[in-house]
Amino acid sequence: MDTETAPGTAARSCAVENLLPSPYQSLQVGNWVKLICGASYQDMPTVRRLAMLYALAGVDCIDVAADGAVVAAARQGLEDAVWLAKRLGDRRSASANYGLPWLMVSLNDSEDPHFRKAYFDGAHCPPDCDRPCETICPTAAIQFQAASCGGVKPELCYGCGRCIVICPLDAIEAQSHQARPEAFPEEQLSQIDAVEIHTQTGHQAQFEQLWQRLQPWRPHLKLISISCPDHAQVVPYLQTLHSIMAPLEVPLIWQTDGRPMSGDLGKGTTHAAIRLAQKILQAGLPGYVQPAGGTNGYTVSKLLDLGLINNAPSASYLNSHPSGLASPQSGGMANHDSVLVRNTISGIAYGSYGRSQVQPLLDTIDHELQPWLDNASLNQSSSGQWGSSEPDTAPAAPWQRLDHSALGQGLALAQQLVGQLKMDRHFLPARYG
Ligand code: SF4
Ligand code: SF4
Repeated sequence: MDTETAPGTAARSCAVENLLPSPYQSLQVGNWVKLICGASYQDMPTVRRLAMLYALAGVDCIDVAADGAVVAAARQGLEDAVWLAKRLGDRRSASANYGLPWLMVSLNDSEDPHFRKAYFDGAHCPPDCDRPCETICPTAAIQFQAASCGGVKPELCYGCGRCIVICPLDAIEAQSHQARPEAFPEEQLSQIDAVEIHTQTGHQAQFEQLWQRLQPWRPHLKLISISCPDHAQVVPYLQTLHSIMAPLEVPLIWQTDGRPMSGDLGKGTTHAAIRLAQKILQAGLPGYVQPAGGTNGYTVSKLLDLGLINNAPSASYLNSHPSGLASPQSGGMANHDSVLVRNTISGIAYGSYGRSQVQPLLDTIDHELQPWLDNASLNQSSSGQWGSSEPDTAPAAPWQRLDHSALGQGLALAQQLVGQLKMDRHFLPARYG
């Protein structure tokens, strides 16, 4: 398992040698990785398991719906990751959650495809329909209990829209919703590290309004992300948003939302996000640039071909930019004003592709981990707690046989994706790095 060796002061050495690089350092080096669970996705057991697997694989951030229950599930997943990291032999996991990914919630300033759910009433469907909607749904959100008795399970729908376009009768509608910051439980604000605002060119007034409503959140935040799709006027629009937000006391990410929720559809979906990232980099906007929307297993190689990834090893990059080194005393943050105008991306966010890599294994992983839970099930709620002692009757633990367990397979797949850009944060045994 790699750790970075940083030059400079003892404090810096301590931060980098003994502890995992912070998410902020990842941004600076250019190897930040975010997992997107889905701005509308509210299946808590799945969010918990995704957070666990990808935290162990070393992501810097987990992005979830702005829903108190979903945030609690993701937090539980991070606790699961710490519990498992200890059993995987990682000594750093004992130290006060240092190195855990930041938890981000997503909000929208107006109508946005990420904030919608499909709806139809199966009673109106012809009994002889082949139900292509059911087959195409990536999350099994469309379910039929019997002929003419079916519909969309809202908590499983993340609004990808694939069922809407495939229905031959146009029977499926999209119901949009707006995430309201006021609806998020105030007592949970301390559980979130970052916020992402989804906006579109021309929505300045709505953005400004949402930004004002977010002021009570700002003391809790370590990072702001703005997610925006391409448009002929996107650069001046983002410049306007920057002046609305300035001065910012935390780092800012421009998430270039290429082709939303499409990364699992094929190789070519990554191009739109990369093109937009190039455009924003060329514009020299202050902030970090991170593609999303269509990113997949081909994204890193494409970015490398285009020279858009910082190739300098992490340690030498931090050496040449010492002002950016974070210290534990500052909570892992450095002066964001030192952000340089860059010509390379600062990271990548994976959504549907990242989820699809491990989704088929999640139920089996639950089953494997079940004997170590005190009560409830990973699959039923976010309240299952780890037992304080090993159960007498349990089979060999899945973390002791990673080469032959679904847990091991899931971790390897997650690390395979995350490891394309970074190898320095994961909690896994050496053979997984
Ligand atoms: S196909 Fe997409 S939009 Fe339709 S129900 Fe499934 S997740 Fe929702
Ligand atoms: S494809 Fe359309 S008509 Fe057919 S079952 Fe699905 S929603 Fe009903």
